[in-house]
Amino acid sequence: MKKLAILGATGSIGSSTLSVYEQNRDTMALTLLSAWRNVDAMVALCQQYQVPYAFMSCPKANRTLRACLEEQPTQVLSDEAEFLACLAGVEVDAVMAAIVGAAGLAPTLAAVDAGKQVFLANKEALVMSGALFMQAAERSGAQVLPVDSEHNAIFQCLPPQCQQTIGYCDLKANGISQLILTGSGGPFLTKPLAEFSAITPAQAIAHPNWSMGPKISVDSATMMNKGLEYIEAKRLFNTEKSDIQVLIHPQSVIHSMVQYIDGSVLAQMGMPDMRTPIAHVMQYPERIDSGVEALDFSKIAQLTFAAPDFERYPCLKLAIDACYTGQAATTTLNAANEIAVDAFLKQQIRFDQIANVVAQTLDQLATSTAPTIDDIMSVDQQARRLASSTIKQLER
Ligand code: NAD
Ligand code: MG
Repeated sequence: MKKLAILGATGSIGSSTLSVYEQNRDTMALTLLSAWRNVDAMVALCQQYQVPYAFMSCPKANRTLRACLEEQPTQVLSDEAEFLACLAGVEVDAVMAAIVGAAGLAPTLAAVDAGKQVFLANKEALVMSGALFMQAAERSGAQVLPVDSEHNAIFQCLPPQCQQTIGYCDLKANGISQLILTGSGGPFLTKPLAEFSAITPAQAIAHPNWSMGPKISVDSATMMNKGLEYIEAKRLFNTEKSDIQVLIHPQSVIHSMVQYIDGSVLAQMGMPDMRTPIAHVMQYPERIDSGVEALDFSKIAQLTFAAPDFERYPCLKLAIDACYTGQAATTTLNAANEIAVDAFLKQQIRFDQIANVVAQTLDQLATSTAPTIDDIMSVDQQARRLASSTIKQLER
């Protein structure tokens, strides 16, 4: 029985993971659930799954959870240190890293350092910590498996030698000419640019194909999500600039592709449902049931493709540029974006100002150096302060 921890259990990926777990209870045991502050949702999950350990990052929520579960078998861990120790201990074999944003870095890295099998959904953790994350995995022997649908698709299309050397694979030596990262283009693919300033949070969150948490939904609308994924792909697949191409594919049937030097292109396809990549990693290399309905090609009218337009998606350009500027740039990009998206969701800035906030923050911090995790955390904090002050100066 694989002992599974789910970080971000109350979120969109958390619930898809629980759904795949439900289908495969004979092979996995749920031992730890974590979330931020939605106590009602967490109490319900702990009761439903009778999970041995639980933790909420918000101290007040954690105390309430403990009071609510007094009569239950679940032990509520008392603080962050106890939570990280449990994650690194014998009760956990595999960790679904599905906290959103930089908040996921510390627990995800703790799991990597402890040599756990890590199912990586929390792309922001990798964008922030970059090479240090992959070095930590190599040191500890942690197996990192990509859950993000594009990276999972690429992973599935790679030869076994590359799958076994995540972070360090030699694409050229394996006959690979390019990774093709597809993205739907989000809800505003054809919206006139003149209307971008009036986009509301509700419109931005309504993704045409995928059902996801609010932050990644806004990131998909700006295509910052594809930019973060570009950086994520560089880290996971050890790419150089000429190795990756971003391609708009509005139907989200092909989840990404790998092109080989002989002209072959391998694609992974499926319904746009995260339970597929989640099931793929959970008992990798064995295939398990995900509960996802089969793709019906007779119902797919067409598959279309286009190059991305950076005028429509300035965040994508900022991210690709940051990828080649350095670690401080990607850390800054991620932090400023988290602050800007939060401000947009609270209607403090307009949709088209998200890119301005990120660009202005990058102007000030991109060329700092960040060789250690402490430096990265310091750049992250500086970027958050700068982005917040830029937002205060912006007029709606
Ligand atoms: P979500 O908003 O639905 O859920 C986020 C989870 O993180 C919740 O359980 C929440 O309690 C927890 N969380 C939030 N802030 C926290 C904090 N400060 N401390 C501890 N926990 C905190 O988000 P989601 O859509 O499930 O996305 C989760 C991660 O997976 C993100 O990094 C996202 O980019 C990635 N991802 C999501 C999808 C998707 O389809 N939803 C696809 C690919 C990758
Ligand atoms: Mg993705």
